[in-house]
Amino acid sequence: MMPHFAPSSTREFPTDATVATLVRLAAAQLSGDDPRRDAELLLQHALDVDRAWLFSHAGDVPGMEAVQQFGRLVERRVAGEPLAYVVGHAGFWTLDLRVTPDTLIPRPETELLVELALSRLPADQPLRIADLGTGSGAIALALASERPKAAVVATDMSGKALAVARENARRNGVPGVVFREGDWFVPLGTECFDLIASNPPYIAEGDAHLGRGDLRFEPLSALSSGADGLNAISVLCEGAPGHLVEGGWLLIEHGYDQGDAVRSLLGSAGFVEVETRQDLEQRDRVSLGRKKGGSPPA
Ligand code: GLN
Repeated sequence: MMPHFAPSSTREFPTDATVATLVRLAAAQLSGDDPRRDAELLLQHALDVDRAWLFSHAGDVPGMEAVQQFGRLVERRVAGEPLAYVVGHAGFWTLDLRVTPDTLIPRPETELLVELALSRLPADQPLRIADLGTGSGAIALALASERPKAAVVATDMSGKALAVARENARRNGVPGVVFREGDWFVPLGTECFDLIASNPPYIAEGDAHLGRGDLRFEPLSALSSGADGLNAISVLCEGAPGHLVEGGWLLIEHGYDQGDAVRSLLGSAGFVEVETRQDLEQRDRVSLGRKKGGSPPA
């Protein structure tokens, strides 16, 4: 008789279960914001199919190997590993980005920074853009995909993160981004840009959030910066005027409680038109300012 349960999977699912049943059984074991969606994405990954396939084949019974693989993926997710690391990719803007434990997982909040940057970047102009601390390449690739004439430089101090970002440029067919390794402004040499964007590490060292949820699995160097979380942001505010054209913009993502501090750092660095914008949950999320002088890059 066929064994009723897949013997070697850590989470055992019945080997005669249909696609719909597997999703239901896994969702019941998962927690988090949307267990059903997680279960669907994990099963898609185990079967190497898209979402439409899953729904049009709800009554299919997948093979035993796939069910065992699904069991292992569910186990990792139950242990708290972020979904994006378990399946190896995440959606951002219009892109599908590979992510590994060497990169931060791109967050939907960061799309606000992309929108604010795009509204300051006229199309059809050969603008120069820099994304500092690019991680998986999220910001640089989103901007380059929307502004094909722009020259985009993406930097990161982690060579491993840059390898992932380069792969994401290839896999999404986004040309026009140059990747450079190094700390903040160092890889920019003496170049100046029309717009500099960054989602730097901004969580305070020792903040309890670092020990919770997805953050436990992400690179600490991409998350946390100094006792008040403002070390990297100070470096960015102080250094950016030396790498912006007159009238150029600096946009920085930060924590919900850092708007005042970041506006004050931008002001001290001589930026004008300084303001903070809020994300969809009405929390301070991005602050920006413009280098004095010149006409806008328009
Ligand atoms: N720029 C990347 C992102 O927005 C990485 C940010 C980081 O590692 N702090 O996802």
